[in-house]
Amino acid sequence: MGLSEASELTAVADCSRGHDDRAYDLRAVGPLNCVHVLNSYVEVKIDVCTARREDHHQHDEGGPLHDVLRFARKIEAKGKRASPHFTCNRYGSDVYSHPLTHLRIGTMTDVTIIGGGIVGLATAYALTDQSTISVRILEKETALAQHQSTHNSGVLHAGLQYRPGSAKARLAREGIRRMTEFCTAHDVKHEICGKLVVASSKAELPRLDEMFDRGIANGLKGLRRLSAEAAREVEPHVHAQAAILVPEEGIADYRAVCQVLDEILGERGVELVTGAEVNALSRQSRSWRITTTAGVFESGVIVNCAGLHSDRIVTMAGEDPGCRIVPFRGEYHRLRPDREHLVRHLVSPLPEPGFPFLGVHFTRRIGGGIDAGPNAVLAFAREGYDRTTINLFDLGGALTFPGLWRFAAKYPHMVARELGQSFDRRRFVSALQRLIPEVTTDDLIPAGAGVRAQAMNAHGELLQDFVWSEGRGTVHAINAPSPAATASLAIGEEIAARVRRQLAA
Ligand SMILES: Cc1cc2nc3c(=O)[nH]c(=O)nc-3n(C[C@H](O)[C@H](O)[C@H](O)COP(=O)(O)OP(=O)(O)OC[C@H]3O[C@@H](n4cnc5c(N)ncnc54)[C@H](O)[C@@H]3O)c2cc1C
Repeated sequence: MGLSEASELTAVADCSRGHDDRAYDLRAVGPLNCVHVLNSYVEVKIDVCTARREDHHQHDEGGPLHDVLRFARKIEAKGKRASPHFTCNRYGSDVYSHPLTHLRIGTMTDVTIIGGGIVGLATAYALTDQSTISVRILEKETALAQHQSTHNSGVLHAGLQYRPGSAKARLAREGIRRMTEFCTAHDVKHEICGKLVVASSKAELPRLDEMFDRGIANGLKGLRRLSAEAAREVEPHVHAQAAILVPEEGIADYRAVCQVLDEILGERGVELVTGAEVNALSRQSRSWRITTTAGVFESGVIVNCAGLHSDRIVTMAGEDPGCRIVPFRGEYHRLRPDREHLVRHLVSPLPEPGFPFLGVHFTRRIGGGIDAGPNAVLAFAREGYDRTTINLFDLGGALTFPGLWRFAAKYPHMVARELGQSFDRRRFVSALQRLIPEVTTDDLIPAGAGVRAQAMNAHGELLQDFVWSEGRGTVHAINAPSPAATASLAIGEEIAARVRRQLAA
């Protein structure tokens, strides 16, 4: 590509060079669109063209470069760093500069993380801990962590129900330790309040024993198997044949965790580009060219932490995800304040074998209040937080996926139950009454929803474990559902180790 071709590119500015009176080749697209306040730069989209200096005094009042500087000053006034500069020496072209120099066409980093949720942030955190790797995060929304990472139950999972030896079991154990330490070190609200896992009928007792054994095998500390009476001492309103007390579990403010991570990453010079939806990836000889709604970027390695869209990013990279992300909406209700005394801490049913979802349960929120839910129904959009949000592309993709029909044929009871709980509040309540019989329909207020990114294979099986894959210069977190918020810091380390191997190769 030459400078004579008019094309939108991304420029990074730095005012380190002095005056240069030569002809120039740059003209900003006006008004300056796509201006991003990065952690260390002001970034603007410009149009490369053949304008000459005499055609347009760019630094004059009203000129496009003047606009860049003016914008930079505005940013600085908000306490952010802004160092505008243009470079275009890469193509050996003339550069006009006062006080601007250097236009770097596209910005190259060692690593670009796609997705600014808790997993993407934790990965950047691990990569930049005591290393000089340059990292950029591309996030399609205008702010970080707008999806799963801030639409969840806020539970710190200790790893009770995961298959021993699985990545979930290992990373939940490591993750809860790291997350608790992180929250303590950075004053993020959290509380280790303990959870009661309840067998509601005699038929469930063998599964309760199995769960207890799993917990022991996974290394959980302080687990106790409780009789019905002992369970009521912990949760006076619970109905249980028997229960397991998991004292290590708790709750945390994951939104605050993301905010703290964002601040730390800013201090470490990680670039954050919001409003940058990745829509194409192309492999160059030694790097990736990443096309986004906010411009074109280059990177040595790309890390896919795109949550509900992770399978699509794998496909964009020309690789096969081997599964499809199916969005399962989980709806919450909140206990009316005068009924909060019915639940002290966390109360869950026994998870159903073969399903990664816990079944509706009670969760104390870190900011106050008790939530009931979430159920699990197919969302009509990958980010469909209510029944009326429909995305025909997403829905068409789900309905033409044979795996989904096989799943529905295999588990009609589960599908009907979850749909019933979604459309009929009485059914939702009757599932809750198995745990706390005193709860009534009048006690609940609708309290929003989250959408889980759950990978499913073509046989209609939900992938139970975390799934990663790697290609040439790519690391994909394909399946990172619950407990990925708890485990995010440990997952970040896991991904970072893979990235370092790729960079060293
Ligand atoms: C209802 C519910 C309850 C849960 N409860 C718990 C719990 O109690 N405890 C727990 O540990 N875990 C829980 N989880 C799971 C946990 O929240 C998620 O596993 C975790 O947040 C995943 O983080 P993430 O960063 O991978 O995904 P996300 O937070 O979804 O982030 C992905 C990001 O990628 C961005 N993105 C997507 N596509 C693109 C693109 N093309 N270009 C640029 N950016 C893109 C998105 O905008 C998004 O910001 C729950 C999840 C849900 C939905």
